[in-house]
Amino acid sequence: MEPSFCPYCGEEHLDELDPTELMVDNQKWIIYHYECKVCGEIFDKIYIDEEYGDMEDDEDDENRLWS
Ligand SMILES: [Zn+2]
Repeated sequence: MEPSFCPYCGEEHLDELDPTELMVDNQKWIIYHYECKVCGEIFDKIYIDEEYGDMEDDEDDENRLWS
């Protein structure tokens, strides 16, 4: 789910900034902000958690990335 590389320059040196959480209806939106350390571009990734815990297919990816 989370990007592992910059969509602008393709480098993998990203800073994860503080995510923004929103409640929209019964959905929890988590907006992740990433800053590329190489080219300086900032981009967002929106993760929609529908009814919490129902769709957790991405858990493994979260544990694997972002050491
Ligand atoms: Zn970049």
